[in-house]
Amino acid sequence: MEKYVLSIDQGTTSSRAILFDKRGNIIATAQEEVSLIYPHEGWVEADALVIWISVVNVINECLIKANATWADIDSIGITNQRETTVVWDKQTGKPIYNAIIWQSRQSSDICDKFNDKKEYIHNKTGLLINPFFSASKLKFILDNVEGSRERAKRGELLFGTIDSWLIYRLTNGAVHATDTTNASRTMLYNIFDLKWDEDLLKLFDIPKQMLPKVFPCNHDFGTASYFSTKVHIYAVLGDQQASLFGHACFKEGDCKNTYGTGCFMLMNTGSTPILSKNGLLTTVAWNIDGKVSYALEGSVFIGGAVIQWLRDGLKCISSAPEVDGAATSVKDNGGVVFVPAFVGLGTPYWDNDVRGTIFGMTRATTENHICRAALEAIAFQTKDVFDVMAKEAKISLTSLQVDGGASKSDYLMQFQSDILQINIEKPCCTETTALGAAFMAGCKSKYFGSLKEISMMRCIEKEFKPQIDAVSAQNACKTWECAVQSARTFKAFK
Ligand code: ADP
Repeated sequence: MEKYVLSIDQGTTSSRAILFDKRGNIIATAQEEVSLIYPHEGWVEADALVIWISVVNVINECLIKANATWADIDSIGITNQRETTVVWDKQTGKPIYNAIIWQSRQSSDICDKFNDKKEYIHNKTGLLINPFFSASKLKFILDNVEGSRERAKRGELLFGTIDSWLIYRLTNGAVHATDTTNASRTMLYNIFDLKWDEDLLKLFDIPKQMLPKVFPCNHDFGTASYFSTKVHIYAVLGDQQASLFGHACFKEGDCKNTYGTGCFMLMNTGSTPILSKNGLLTTVAWNIDGKVSYALEGSVFIGGAVIQWLRDGLKCISSAPEVDGAATSVKDNGGVVFVPAFVGLGTPYWDNDVRGTIFGMTRATTENHICRAALEAIAFQTKDVFDVMAKEAKISLTSLQVDGGASKSDYLMQFQSDILQINIEKPCCTETTALGAAFMAGCKSKYFGSLKEISMMRCIEKEFKPQIDAVSAQNACKTWECAVQSARTFKAFK
């Protein structure tokens, strides 16, 4: 009987388990929501044990749905929300504080203190000092949980991102490890030397004893003995990197954009890390058998979230899929340009203070024009990231791979193709992140063949080609640039 690869995709709001077959087809999936905890304004936490329980549940459910047993599983791949920080007791395996979720701003004050070290940190980690990354979150826990720093120094406490936490639990506490992609998001890992950075550990006052060992993404991370099985965890990588891998973006210049709540664009830059001067992050794309590929990464804070706002805030649609119908019920945007800077703007502006603004309304403006402008805004923000990426990588791009909830909008995808003047390719498998982890694990176990064979398995469900000329595209982008500038000017007068 054919075996399957089990992919565990632990995301911010839910955990998923998916079984893939040799052709990359989905055999069964199971998903469970994970509740987030908001102890104060801007703080986002989750109970790490609840995350673990959800993973156990979805694995069981997925196997049951597929009518499979562990004997049918070839190997396990883990992909996870990145940067989220857990500290637990080495003996009992119990967390000493909630998992601090990547979005949480509770370590902002800590980051402010390191502002003068911005360049220094960027030159070692490729990251911009910001509470997103694990270092300040870990420092927050050690500063606030009484006696924890001393206990960590005595080797009694362990730190990990979600992948480490799951590996530790799945292996019944036998393995404390992470992979290079997750390590590269902690702000404690030197992406040039490929080691935990002693200077940064000193700067953030983190005892080295509590850090996991770092391995390539395709490594034997131990067996999932919690389930009394000998099935090996053969792959670990962060979610955005797994998506890049799942899209088979193996060549320098290959690029993908995930249109989720926010949008994350990653471009493979090959074996050389490129340090950005324009607000992109430099990160490890993957490490296969010790051979590292790097990526440039840009983020849009409000992507699909603006569609949620149309539904829940403006209440002009009752579900996200309705947005396309609304947007195409009018012949154009009626001159409306929407800058959905609800929480500031990400790459390349990194402006925390600018707020959402709608320009160009007349008495003829309807909700449908606003829906259309909202979808266009997702595409315009993506173009801002894309332009910086093309410039820094000195590559002219011919296509973009896409995934994520908002990529279901055909209007958005066509408009994206129009203003970028390149082809947009949407894959058949919508679970690209989980597929990436399955590919990585299956390559290690020889379940899948070479990267070349994986590339050949790629299946494009739909391709969008530019339908307007370059001059019209440029004109549309000029109105956006003007709107962004005005929104940012307005902030200055507040
Ligand atoms: P995440 O992983 O960040 O939770 P998903 O990839 O599940 O995100 O995508 C969810 C987002 O996609 C939501 O913000 C939602 O508004 C948007 N979305 C879902 N379906 C559609 C659609 N048909 N058209 C436009 N946006 C959509």
